[in-house]
Amino acid sequence: MLAELKGLNEECGVFGIWGHPEAAQITYYGLHSLQHRGQEGAGIVTTDGEKLSAVKGEGLVNEVFGNGKMNDLHGKAAIGHVRYATAGGGGYENVQPLLFHSQTGSLALAHNGNLVNANALKHQLESMGSILQTTSDTEVLAHLIKRSGYTLLKDRVKNALSMLKGAYAFLIMTETEMMVALDPNGLRPLSLGKLNDAYVVASETCAFDVVGATFIRDIEPGELLIIDNGGLHTERFTMHTQRAMCSMEYIYFSRPDSNIDGINVHTARKSLGKQLAMEAPIEADVVTGVPDSSISAAIGYAEFSGIPYELGLIKNRYVGRTFIQPSQSLREQGVKMKLSPVRGVVEGKRVVMVDDSIVRGTTSKRIVRMLREAGATEVHVRISSPPIKNPCFYGIDTSTHEELIASSHSIEEMRELIGADTLSFLTPSGMVEAIARPYEGETGGACMACFTGKYPTEIFPDTVLPHEKC
Ligand code: SF4
Repeated sequence: MLAELKGLNEECGVFGIWGHPEAAQITYYGLHSLQHRGQEGAGIVTTDGEKLSAVKGEGLVNEVFGNGKMNDLHGKAAIGHVRYATAGGGGYENVQPLLFHSQTGSLALAHNGNLVNANALKHQLESMGSILQTTSDTEVLAHLIKRSGYTLLKDRVKNALSMLKGAYAFLIMTETEMMVALDPNGLRPLSLGKLNDAYVVASETCAFDVVGATFIRDIEPGELLIIDNGGLHTERFTMHTQRAMCSMEYIYFSRPDSNIDGINVHTARKSLGKQLAMEAPIEADVVTGVPDSSISAAIGYAEFSGIPYELGLIKNRYVGRTFIQPSQSLREQGVKMKLSPVRGVVEGKRVVMVDDSIVRGTTSKRIVRMLREAGATEVHVRISSPPIKNPCFYGIDTSTHEELIASSHSIEEMRELIGADTLSFLTPSGMVEAIARPYEGETGGACMACFTGKYPTEIFPDTVLPHEKC
């Protein structure tokens, strides 16, 4: 499904490189490949060994870095960020990487995720005299690093990280080193690769393919990786870790050509579709997927069920960004602009429409109606994830309980509301089995909190939902 229509949005993507003469350009291409993780702002900070240079702004990567702006970025190392911000959010000051200058040097920060104790830490910092420049939770880390009593930067960073709770994949860069840190649950993906003699780090491995880098390994939960001109070494800022990778990365967010914990995203989605066909079979003439993220699951459903896969819905790729507005009215208007049924495929047919998730239900309702108007005789909706009943506090804008249709409606009520002939979701256990992550336990080392309500971290009473934080 299309992110901007569904109301499920990734918060950010990060990319970093150390030791390449074209660090800024490589980062530009890396960010371009991560554009699906955030379209509201982008930034790159480079170091030439003596000073940091920054270019950032609101908009898409090619808009922010057009007009010769790349010429302002010098040096052999860079970190970059793409950002998503929802209604009432954003603003130039929140576009990352955030940059801080002090007598002892500069620090750039790029963050993917959401801190669940950011408010408590902000109150603490303000009571000690800190003045926060942004409304982003990311800035908290810079203040904690600065205030730490340790001498070495890596110890100050470790000390600061140990105070954070929630989801974070951080890239931290000074004039002379880059640090890479992942939260103790490893909620967001973060991988390490190599490009000739340079080290690269990215939210998704698709960025490595785009820049020609080779994948080395995933960053471990609780790991602090330090890269400088002497090479790379790894430390831990905590030993208390328990992997809980966001399962929505497989279902919906990541690009199909990315691998997470060694599992290809397209392959995982296909397996989700197969599992769904096993759990919720139906007699029909064609299977179709809602582009783009549900196509793989629809292929899996078709393969297992033996019902032919057809292109029953197509996406209009040339709608301008004007329509990518995170407001409900424009989102609904946008459905018709962005998707069209293929009459020649669905007319007179019983259609299985595979989608990856239902958030508010409004978009599903419109697509079902579209298929019927195009002549489908039956529309059977199959969802390749369990019902989303709980909000996400870890960097995905899944809306509040009130906005999530599955938190207050039964499956039958939802079916009626979206106007489908039948509606089925994947079971949580079927989802775990289909993704087949290489971890033991009930969830296979995945976070499933938006489906089950079992959050892998403590949630504080004043935890700010990602879409409220700006
Ligand atoms: S709550 Fe859902 S969206 Fe958020 S990290 Fe967990 S699985 Fe991902």
